[in-house]
Amino acid sequence: MKNLVNEKINTASLPDENGYFGSYGGSFVPPELQSVMDEVTQAYEKISRDPEFIAQLRDLQEHYTGRPSPVFHAKNLSRAAGGAQIYLKREDLNHTGAHKINHCLGEALLAKRMGKKKVIAETGAGQHGVALATAAALLGLECDIYMGEVDVMKEAPNVSRMKILGARVIPVKSGTRTLKDAVDEAFKAYLKDPVTQIYCIGSVVGPHPFPMMVRDFQSVIGVEAKEQMQKMTGRLPDSIVACVGGGSNAMGIFSAFLDDRDVSLYGVEPAGMGLDTDQHAASITMGKPGILHGFKTILIQDENGQPLPVYSIASGLDYPGAGPQHCYLHDIKRVNYTTITDREAVEAFYALSRMEGIIPALESSHAVAYAVKLAQTMDKDKTILVNLSGRGDKDIDFVMANYPLVEYEPEEGSRNDYKEFLTHIHSRR
Ligand SMILES: *Cc1c(COP(=O)(O)O)cnc(C)c1O
Repeated sequence: MKNLVNEKINTASLPDENGYFGSYGGSFVPPELQSVMDEVTQAYEKISRDPEFIAQLRDLQEHYTGRPSPVFHAKNLSRAAGGAQIYLKREDLNHTGAHKINHCLGEALLAKRMGKKKVIAETGAGQHGVALATAAALLGLECDIYMGEVDVMKEAPNVSRMKILGARVIPVKSGTRTLKDAVDEAFKAYLKDPVTQIYCIGSVVGPHPFPMMVRDFQSVIGVEAKEQMQKMTGRLPDSIVACVGGGSNAMGIFSAFLDDRDVSLYGVEPAGMGLDTDQHAASITMGKPGILHGFKTILIQDENGQPLPVYSIASGLDYPGAGPQHCYLHDIKRVNYTTITDREAVEAFYALSRMEGIIPALESSHAVAYAVKLAQTMDKDKTILVNLSGRGDKDIDFVMANYPLVEYEPEEGSRNDYKEFLTHIHSRR
């Protein structure tokens, strides 16, 4: 039986045994926590080669999540962009509406196998918390979600979802009462009781083995997409585009194509209000090497190496670092890291909704916006595959309140031209 890891050089041989991708990654945690991390690493290495575990995960992916997620040829959007053909990997159609369920099911199954009673995690906007609470409900695990008090107030619907699913939401009152403090608090709780509970991180970040483990659980996206594109177009895509917060959906789709040098890979970071302001979260583009949450990354930091507050319209992209494998792929120039502003993301949000009947998450809208720009530089017979990481239902109230679409009489052919379409979007900001 095949191991979960793709048997490809860049994924299977990395990280090294100490959890490094080049000079990034590793494990910078107190000694007490290091022995816990070693235990998780050993358990994962064993379980990820266990046919029974793999079969159980595959079964849930198919019958619970609804995999494989389809690939859709977005012909209207492609026509409007006026260049390469854009295809969408529809992770938005997964149960719970995003790719996060892929690694949450893996992590929760691992917890079960290790005999843990409880899964714990941090959450920012609540998306990871909801996905983990879902997996915990299914597998009969207790679930504690640490969430900054500010976020608890801002993200009421997701707090309700977690509670309905049976999770305990623990408001964190320290520091700025947001994501970073929630991570600190969750790690503290983990240290207090690493025996009955296990930490389930929300992206390809944190100390070894999390970046590797989460990537492996997300790699199903790329494995499926490769086969689907071959079937639909007879060849591999020319380019692949994915948004990068911590970087799990991007690593999930990239991992299957790292050795296919003819496939160009693009990771899209949030430029927020602009790279010339301090209101962005373009970590790889603007940051410097540093340490955050127990691993070496490229970090937006102050002169003392402390993480600076970051911002994006898409809360899932609002993180001052990025997964260590992304930092490495940036350094070796295998992946191009680029940025999209809030405004461009909102334009793509509306364009995909109106042109294809698909409302994307604001996170995924960053990838769509970049794909449109890229398509315009490529011939019509070329193809771009976009990882549509999630659906936009969670974002509709915010977008309507802040970026209303001016109602208009669609002129003949107006939806066939992306630039013309943009003239109808009005911003109150
Ligand atoms: C959380 C989230 C992201 C960002 O996380 P990554 O680890 O970078 O993939 C992107 N899209 C959606 C829909 C999300 O919920």
